[in-house]
Amino acid sequence: MSEDTGIERLIRSHLISFGGYSASTPPETLEGKVEVPVGSIIKLDANENPYGCSPRVLPALASYPSLNIYPDSEQTELRKLLAGYTGVGAERIVAGSGSNQLIDLIIRLFVGPGDEVINCVPTFDVFRFSTQIHGGTLVEVRRDENFAVNVKAVKAAIGKKTKIIFLANPNSPTGNITPQEDILEIVDSGLPVVIDEAYYEFSGETVVPLVNQYENLMVLRTFSKWAGLAGLRIGYGIFPPKIADYLLTIKIPYNINVAALVAVRESLEDINYLLDRVKAIIAERERLFGELLKLKWLKPFPSRANFIFCSVLNGKASELRQKLQNRGILVRYFDRPLLRNSIRISVGKPEHTDALIKVLQEIGY
Ligand code: PMP
Repeated sequence: MSEDTGIERLIRSHLISFGGYSASTPPETLEGKVEVPVGSIIKLDANENPYGCSPRVLPALASYPSLNIYPDSEQTELRKLLAGYTGVGAERIVAGSGSNQLIDLIIRLFVGPGDEVINCVPTFDVFRFSTQIHGGTLVEVRRDENFAVNVKAVKAAIGKKTKIIFLANPNSPTGNITPQEDILEIVDSGLPVVIDEAYYEFSGETVVPLVNQYENLMVLRTFSKWAGLAGLRIGYGIFPPKIADYLLTIKIPYNINVAALVAVRESLEDINYLLDRVKAIIAERERLFGELLKLKWLKPFPSRANFIFCSVLNGKASELRQKLQNRGILVRYFDRPLLRNSIRISVGKPEHTDALIKVLQEIGY
């Protein structure tokens, strides 16, 4: 990646050839490169909420009086609000700048060079990303052909150096659920287990009511998807109280900005509105799934999240992504081991589904 000269030779050696994380394409960078004006791009590539956030958020942000004052680094009000929403004690909660930051923080707390992290692949790539940055070793346990977790293989992969087991539920990018009995069999290992419930509000499946019973169970959530706040970066985790204390101690100061706090406050005041939008997205997901099924060259997988994962049966996923992009529709394309020839489509509004299906029919492989 870089030459071994000057200050670069002082970079930690495992980061010299580190590949990073491939994030979604900002539409504004596509100006002039697609057949539609940037403002008309339909963005179905990052599982964002097509309805935006609660209408209460913008006026509250506009009238917030104290941008010159640092936020409360201890997250006192935020943790109380999230305790009210989740039904667990505030002493268990830590908020992050997106749940991504909490993934990183958990790994910082447990994983040093040579320690192992078990990851059920294919899955959300930030588990790999943060593990490798911190010098940890990934132990990858393959999911089956329908992306179900192989619990036996997870247990067999546990060794003396295992520090954490990560499990996204629903899984991203595949959208499937892991049954609770399988999760608990893994939690019974006694090792720190992180259940990433970023899409909980869409799936309705959660292990949060069990956190009092297990001192190794951690759950991550986010406001990016159901509450439409991806741009403000606000996620949280539910931890055993002692672990929450450690995480608060090692996190960077003031990691949640005041805009995110204001937005959470207003979102939780407007929860019925937001959950109605979630219902609309779930209904649209089912309609989109039915439409995708009709295209014989795509294989959509049933999803409990706000996106649908599809294998592209003719092997032209990359070309398909590009053709859709040229027509102003962005979807996520994967080209990494176990995710070859596949795309992930976020569920949009009904008119987004209609536009997508029309273009897919026109491409008509
Ligand atoms: N976990 C999973 C499984 C995800 O798919 C995502 C979003 N791509 C996240 C966490 C990150 O969410 P946030 O915006 O809160 O960092």
